[in-house]
Amino acid sequence: MMPGGNLLDQRLAAMDRCTRCSQCKFVPVPKSRAHMSACPSIDFVEYHAGSASGQLIMASGIAHGEIGYTPELLDTISACTMCGACDTACKVNFAEIVEPLEGLYAFRARIVADGQSPKRHREIMERIAETGNAQGRARSERAKWATGLTFSNRAEVLLHVGSVLSYDMSKHQSLRTIVEAVQKAGVPLAYLGQNEGSCGMLAWDLGYHDQARTLANAFVRQVRQSGAKTVVTFSSSAISAFRSIYPRMGIDTGDIRFLHFTEYLLEMTEMGRLSLKKACGHIWQKVAFHDTCKLGRLTEPYQRADYALTKEMGGIYTSRSPEALNFSRNGIYEAPRALLRQMEIEVEELERNREFSYCCGAQGGVKETIPAAAKMAARNRLDELKETESQVMVSACGNCAHHLGKHTRAPAIVVDLIDILAPSIVVGAANVVVHERVE
Ligand code: SF4
Ligand code: SF4
Repeated sequence: MMPGGNLLDQRLAAMDRCTRCSQCKFVPVPKSRAHMSACPSIDFVEYHAGSASGQLIMASGIAHGEIGYTPELLDTISACTMCGACDTACKVNFAEIVEPLEGLYAFRARIVADGQSPKRHREIMERIAETGNAQGRARSERAKWATGLTFSNRAEVLLHVGSVLSYDMSKHQSLRTIVEAVQKAGVPLAYLGQNEGSCGMLAWDLGYHDQARTLANAFVRQVRQSGAKTVVTFSSSAISAFRSIYPRMGIDTGDIRFLHFTEYLLEMTEMGRLSLKKACGHIWQKVAFHDTCKLGRLTEPYQRADYALTKEMGGIYTSRSPEALNFSRNGIYEAPRALLRQMEIEVEELERNREFSYCCGAQGGVKETIPAAAKMAARNRLDELKETESQVMVSACGNCAHHLGKHTRAPAIVVDLIDILAPSIVVGAANVVVHERVE
């Protein structure tokens, strides 16, 4: 067996503590019946195997040699976006004693180790190996957006763009405007250009942990060579990988500071080096904000469970007090909201928000493998707009914005935050209003 397969054996004890309570299918304390689901996978599959608990049962069956792989099993696990909502919901009841998302990571690694990875997943990995991006776009085009801009080879701050934005021509003008503003504000930026590769997040989600580790090590080496102490990324997958997955891989990133561009711009505005004027050119003053899974709950810094306070009392497990766990509350929720407020745009919360946000369906290889599941998740998410006074859903992730935008129906629209920021960004502190953070 390949090394990745052992992870499942290590997770067995935790997985076997799953009580089949089904909490992982629902938002804890839902506000309505219509939007009580936490799990896009079971919404699509519509039987227990599609849930985190169902996948853990299948994983346990595989590990114990009680069941074998079937096309149906592989289709079922392929509908899971690895969004982690199940993990947050399970922890509300069971703290860290089950951690279903860790079980899902281990299951996918075992599927790869057993040579059973779905064909579409293998194809994604071939494209990443060949071109450095899941879309299979040419490396030579990766830095086209930056034609005419000047970067340093070595600088305190390394710009990381990410694969989706690098190749999305419709976003290049906004990206350039924001990057130029940061440079004009006096920040020399290093940029890897066409040498920027995959951060390893998707490879990890698909179960290719060895390849993900190789990609992560290569990136950390590039950061060290650039001399950067801070990495600013426009990718929500990348910030999730840097803060949450690299520590799981055991990669030492030392004192490198990883920031999402929304956090960095917020810092720059708070220092008065950049400011945001009232959003211009838009007729709407109120928007609903979509918390991307990767940018939100999956960016929470990794905390390895130590089970220090776990006790078994007659077959019932108890764990540490809720205060001792983060419950996904330390993801990036506030920075994009604060930037919107600085542009005098009111943020209306969707029913499922922050750590309990509902996945748009674009992640975990689902979009490429089972497009119907990805579409259904997007439609479910967009349905929440009907409960708000806004027709506008904003996302700080290019991948989510693109996927949700493809499935929206007029008069609703989906807007990428960078397209609102670009026309509003001003170098210097002119008229800057620093709004209080809401924690
Ligand atoms: S994974 Fe957690 S929430 Fe889901 S059924 Fe098992 S114990 Fe319950
Ligand atoms: S990761 Fe997301 S899609 Fe997968 S089982 Fe958990 S909640 Fe469902």
